[in-house]
Amino acid sequence: MKKIRGILIGRMQPVHNGHMEVIKQILSEVDEIVIGIGSAQLSHELKDPFTAGERVLMMSQALAEAEVDPSRYYIIPMQDINFNAIWPSHVEMLTPPFNIVYSGNPLVKQLFMEEGYEVKQPPLYDRLHLSGTEVRRRILNDENWQELVPNATVELINEIDGIERIRNLAKREVSDI
Ligand code: NAD
Repeated sequence: MKKIRGILIGRMQPVHNGHMEVIKQILSEVDEIVIGIGSAQLSHELKDPFTAGERVLMMSQALAEAEVDPSRYYIIPMQDINFNAIWPSHVEMLTPPFNIVYSGNPLVKQLFMEEGYEVKQPPLYDRLHLSGTEVRRRILNDENWQELVPNATVELINEIDGIERIRNLAKREVSDI
């Protein structure tokens, strides 16, 4: 029987509990999920501190922690391209075929809608706190960021000295000021 696949694309900087809730919700609606790790080329920037490889690891460890069956997902890093109009084709080239696009990002929704895909907006889970921006802000300010992400993400960020990385990235060189 033909499998129904959904796709969720996010920068996942870092993976947080909102992503995990959306993924569980999507998996209740489709057979398999394609998880695109967006802006794969970016790392070591305040808004994008983690490499694509680190984010793949973060996601796979968070899915293992959530006991999601590994045969039901694909994690695929994807670089940005300069041409929004052909970005959906770029994504199609990199991923298994999919039927439904899940996104809360207006540009992502618009581009896939124009390609004729069914596009669904997943419900927002505590968007005020569950966002990569808030996790990174709390890391910088030494606040409780751990409660916003899976334990696996906390462990990985500690393992790669991610907190120190983010704090170092926030320091500006005298020549920049
Ligand atoms: P994100 O990590 O902020 O979010 C990923 C998804 O999770 C989104 O659909 C978002 O709505 C959802 N989400 C996040 N927090 C949630 C919460 N608390 N509750 C429910 N849902 C939540 O990533 P993003 O910015 O949407 O990622 C889009 C990616 O696509 C980026 O990497 C972007 O560069 C890429 N993109 C590239 C092109 C191009 O290359 N031309 C064009 C469009 C998009």
